[in-house]
Amino acid sequence: MAKQNSFSLKFDTDWQYAPAPESTDHVEIKDRYDLFIGGKFVKPSSNKYFKTINPATEEPIAEIAEANEKDVDSAVKAARKAFPKWSSLAAKERGKYIYRIARLIQERAREFSVIESIDGGKPIRESRDIDIPLAAAHFFYYAGWADKLEYAFPNRKVEPLGVAGQIIPWNFPLLMAAWKIAPALACGNCVVLKPAETTSLTALKLAELIQDAGLPEGVVNIVTGAGKTGAAIVNHKDVDKIAFTGSTEVGKMIQKAVAGTGKKTTLELGGKAANIIFEDAPIDQAVEGIINGIFFNQGHVCCAGSRLFIQESIKEEVEQKLKARLETLIVGDPLDKNTDVGAINSKEQLDSIEKYLKIGKAEGLESFQANVTVPKKGYFCKPTLFFNVAQSSRLAQEEIFGPILAIQSFRTVDEVIEKANNTPYGLSAGVWSDKGSKAFNLSSQLKAGVIWANTFNKFDPTSPFGGYKESGHGREGGMHGLEAYLKIS
Ligand code: NAP
Ligand code: MG
Repeated sequence: MAKQNSFSLKFDTDWQYAPAPESTDHVEIKDRYDLFIGGKFVKPSSNKYFKTINPATEEPIAEIAEANEKDVDSAVKAARKAFPKWSSLAAKERGKYIYRIARLIQERAREFSVIESIDGGKPIRESRDIDIPLAAAHFFYYAGWADKLEYAFPNRKVEPLGVAGQIIPWNFPLLMAAWKIAPALACGNCVVLKPAETTSLTALKLAELIQDAGLPEGVVNIVTGAGKTGAAIVNHKDVDKIAFTGSTEVGKMIQKAVAGTGKKTTLELGGKAANIIFEDAPIDQAVEGIINGIFFNQGHVCCAGSRLFIQESIKEEVEQKLKARLETLIVGDPLDKNTDVGAINSKEQLDSIEKYLKIGKAEGLESFQANVTVPKKGYFCKPTLFFNVAQSSRLAQEEIFGPILAIQSFRTVDEVIEKANNTPYGLSAGVWSDKGSKAFNLSSQLKAGVIWANTFNKFDPTSPFGGYKESGHGREGGMHGLEAYLKIS
């Protein structure tokens, strides 16, 4: 009886959190943003602009310039022009500029956090405590490497590549910009970066900050627009390297487009991570980790723990605890400091997630949704669990990129390794066990670039990140992240 009580948790209370909205008074957002080329904001040659909206309210926030091939060409030319001086600048001076960017991000962290949440829908707690501090940490970390490249690669000659074209997704906008720009600059390259269409604002604020940091003109160029703008960067003849983070589908198109051109690539693509919980795991800690693994950033995380494997002996207990925990998640206003799950990034993404909810239903899967009220306006999705998902189900095979967890079970270590690896992806995985030997055994057998043990979704600039198989190639972060931006001979 006692055991049953311990996992049929009920939070019998009418107790509510009082709203704790983050203030937006200190935030400055212009009505319209131009392209950042050669150190200046310039109008797009087509004079076309598109709206960026707040996914929590569906209201427009600002107009963003749409860059066409001509604008991309101007940006690449500006980067090329800046390259000789930037790459021959004393390395420690280069480092100072990067430190300055890091410090300015820290100074304006509050403003960046609020804009990230308004433009992309993520909870302010996450942008404030994770996205923005980690973006600053990436600049700090790579600033330190700028004058130590010969120590990173002893007895080798290292040279920058030239102009790097960088294309990023909408799930961690400023953080992905930092992952791309910081190592490229530290290694002496110049860049042309394209943020995602739905979340360009923090990259454009970064452009303003880069102006304030006095970075030489043309070292960083930011061109906004949709997929076509990205394709123009990929196909530009004078780009030496393409660094792409996004979907596997677009990653494959990019790989084809650059084949035979001599352009170097790093591709950080999709994922379908297995989060594996053994019967000897610290269960409550694991439940928290599973919740974080899939509902952090509304599940818009390439390395989200979207497939949960529970050892059969603890299946009932873990599932009960997950349901109970789901009921306590607060879904709603991204700017409220109590919010756990914010808005889905766009209508398009919400439609895609809802398609998977229908697929789960059509497959006859048992499901559980938190009994939470979601705001009527805005793009919201209730956190959802699907139970007894078959290995062949689309819910277990395809990346949903939303707050949906596909739960499976297993009996033996060999069985779970086989199931976990049975996916075209290989970006990340999680193991929950009291036994270090088990965690080490699994980490050597799971085909994934990052494996967390008794934790999940932990990021650090010193640690390399990247995928196997259809999750891409190349590593970002750590010393490995330098290699992606250097010719090493
Ligand atoms: P996406 O559609 O591939 O878009 C990524 C970026 O590429 C966006 O800036 C997009 O522009 C641009 N783009 C679209 N079509 C293009 C083309 N033909 N040529 C060049 N660029 C093009 O991916 P998403 O939906 O934004 O992001 C979600 C995906 O990113 C997920 O699959 C996720 O797993 C992956 N991701 C991976 C990592 C990692 O490190 N492995 C990290 C985060 C996300 P628009 O947005 O303006 O269309
Ligand atoms: Mg937006």
